[in-house]
Amino acid sequence: MAVKYIPEPFRIKMVETIKILNREEREEKIKEAKYNLFNLKGEDVYIDLLTDSGTNAMSSEQWAGVMRGDEAYAGAKSYYNLIEAGKDIFGYEIIQPVHQGRAAEKVLFPLLLNKGKYAISNMFFDTTRAHVELAGARAIDCVVEEAKDPSIRAPFKGNMDVEKLEETINELGKENVGLVVMTITNNSAGGQPVSIQNMRDVAALCKKYGIPLNIDAARFSENAYFIKQREEEFKNTSIKDITKEMFSYADTFTMSAKKDAIVNMGGLIGIKDNEELYLKVKANCISFEGFTTYGGLAGRDLEALSIGLYEGQDEDFLKYRIGQLEYLAARLDEAGIAYQSPVGGHGLFVDAKALLPHIPYNEFPGQALAVELYREAGIRTCDIGSYMLGNDPDTGEQLKADFEFTRLAIPRRVYTQAHFDVMADALIAIKERASSVKGYRVVWEPPILRHFQAHLEPLK
Ligand SMILES: *Cc1c(COP(=O)(O)O)cnc(C)c1O
Repeated sequence: MAVKYIPEPFRIKMVETIKILNREEREEKIKEAKYNLFNLKGEDVYIDLLTDSGTNAMSSEQWAGVMRGDEAYAGAKSYYNLIEAGKDIFGYEIIQPVHQGRAAEKVLFPLLLNKGKYAISNMFFDTTRAHVELAGARAIDCVVEEAKDPSIRAPFKGNMDVEKLEETINELGKENVGLVVMTITNNSAGGQPVSIQNMRDVAALCKKYGIPLNIDAARFSENAYFIKQREEEFKNTSIKDITKEMFSYADTFTMSAKKDAIVNMGGLIGIKDNEELYLKVKANCISFEGFTTYGGLAGRDLEALSIGLYEGQDEDFLKYRIGQLEYLAARLDEAGIAYQSPVGGHGLFVDAKALLPHIPYNEFPGQALAVELYREAGIRTCDIGSYMLGNDPDTGEQLKADFEFTRLAIPRRVYTQAHFDVMADALIAIKERASSVKGYRVVWEPPILRHFQAHLEPLK
């Protein structure tokens, strides 16, 4: 095989036992869960790929940091350690901890957006879109066209369509656009990266029209690694310098630290140099999150985060992490299984529409494949397709998504090569009996965000 698995740049000091139920038991459990993977108990899952968010393994250094955590209510040493790390890595004057990514959005967005305003992004993550809307504004996506075709292997499928962005600003009127958001990597498009050139172009437009630019920075280190691999100008630049350059083009950032900062809970707001905005952020933070020097986190969490920010930037780690995805992708290439390509940073998005062409969008091929992966090997994944998208709020009719993906999201430093082979083997086995896989129908659903709670039933 052309792609070799890159050996782990760590050894294992602590283990957590996982068990694999037999096929009969899995059949029973998924039926009890109403064919919704979110309803499964974690202990009934063998390989849990539901998300890479907060599911990471901390290092011995981070656990040592947990023990050192300073729990002072105000001015804890762990807070100052985090601020130093944040300033050093991002080059921003102001760093504010919060309890997770959506908290950063809840604190910052109402200060920049209100009713009648618009926010434009390469692609909004679902909670980010929700907080734009909760602030009274509307959210618009402007991702490049090639992101929408899983078979096109473009290097920066996460990019903003700059021409479309400018057209949209002109159509809406620049005074009505409160914020531009660059999501790096572009999670909803399959963990696809954004180039520095695209950041520069977007920043220049924002400057021309006087619109603030925010980075939604959950996977900033993976994005920097892709830039080093794929953008000629940066092939000899360190991850740290690429990161600094990337953030230099924006005014603020919001970050879920549960991804690339390799902790189980945490978030950050960064402000380049705007004291006036910081005063307002502090006021919101105290109301929603807690005093400014802990922001909804324990001192031990602040300490682990200050260490995790650096560990996530380590180039050997990033090479191994992206290498895991490339290894899995190569096994699927061999088997002729299609996915959003080239493979992204934090997960592999299988093209369920291509694998199960007999299942129409309104019988949920992405969800059918997710259920099948659990049946086949005890693997938990999720649908990123029409099942997740839900119904038109006005007509109640099922919406048709651009993609029908099943996402295998990879927790950091958790699974080994043998687990990746289980994933590939399971997909190959399902491909062989694909024509017998049935679609699903929803038998009960809540009015919004139904995929977390809905009950399903296999079709005959
Ligand atoms: C996870 C994520 C968020 C939200 O962060 P939480 O920590 O889950 O609240 C926002 N944006 C992106 C791109 C994310 O991946």
